Amino acid sequence: MRFRIQLITVDEDGSERVHSVAELERDSTLRLETTGLTLAEGKRILKHLQEVVVEEQVEACVVQHRHCAICSKPLSTKGHHQIKLQTVFGNLQIRSPRLRCCPCSEGDRTKSFSPLAQVLTERSTPERLYIETLFASLLSYGATTKLLSELLPLDEQLNAVTIRNHLLEVAERSEAELEPEQVSFIEGCPAAWAGLPIPNGPLTIGIDGGFVRDQRDKGWFEAVEEFSTYIQRNRGFIPNHGERYRHGERISTGFVESTVNQVISKRFVKKQQMRWTPRGAHLLLQTRTKVLNGDLEDTFRRWYPAFRGTTEAKAA
Ligand SMILES: [Zn+2]
Repeated sequence: MRFRIQLITVDEDGSERVHSVAELERDSTLRLETTGLTLAEGKRILKHLQEVVVEEQVEACVVQHRHCAICSKPLSTKGHHQIKLQTVFGNLQIRSPRLRCCPCSEGDRTKSFSPLAQVLTERSTPERLYIETLFASLLSYGATTKLLSELLPLDEQLNAVTIRNHLLEVAERSEAELEPEQVSFIEGCPAAWAGLPIPNGPLTIGIDGGFVRDQRDKGWFEAVEEFSTYIQRNRGFIPNHGERYRHGERISTGFVESTVNQVISKRFVKKQQMRWTPRGAHLLLQTRTKVLNGDLEDTFRRWYPAFRGTTEAKAA
């Protein structure tokens, strides 16, 4: 049995073009291991589909710019260059024409422009950048490389250093959006702070495993004072972690450290092939916290408004 996969482009005016995407063959005996598509076949099909879809989109963009917007005269081509674009379904080389501006608008024949370069301003699509950043925030760069190249039709060129650079770019961009660090959040004389109104919502302070939960009727300083009293009174019950640790006991100091562990993970402690710089570690923690908080997708949507916003593909 043979399967032929085709892609049909339907233009605004209803005209259609058929592209051949892939062919599959199966012998007549059904086997468990050849039921459905294999991962390799799926990757090959997706890669080819991506190439054809992008080719069509790119062509449509160039056609739109082929004629002068004012006098409708065709614009001549000055030359071509290649645009490299990394997508989730493979790396593409796009032939991008440079067009001469129309003398009617510019009055200068030497001026030219590249319609595709004006749109494809980055080397990776947001989706590719997102998926790399997402996994590289949670796993090692090496494991991310392995995972992505196992599942997606990415080139062999995909390496840990590239992924790290992409993650750092995302983190730098996100940091650049932050306002300058605020030194003090409360104005006025510290002596008057106790008289300030109580903020809304419960107040939880984590201090090495102990925590004080603010009662609605208490202020911040009363809560800290109460915590201090609590420690004084319960001194006998607070374990000596140093002593226990030397005894080979397991140490649990509650939610503060579990959060710290979750964010920082063993990644920073174990021997790593890639050396950490304080700046690199700081940036990785920025994206990791974003991922754990579920904020990364929204960040990308803010940068690229149409990111993951297209309607779901309808089943034929
Ligand atoms: Zn013109």
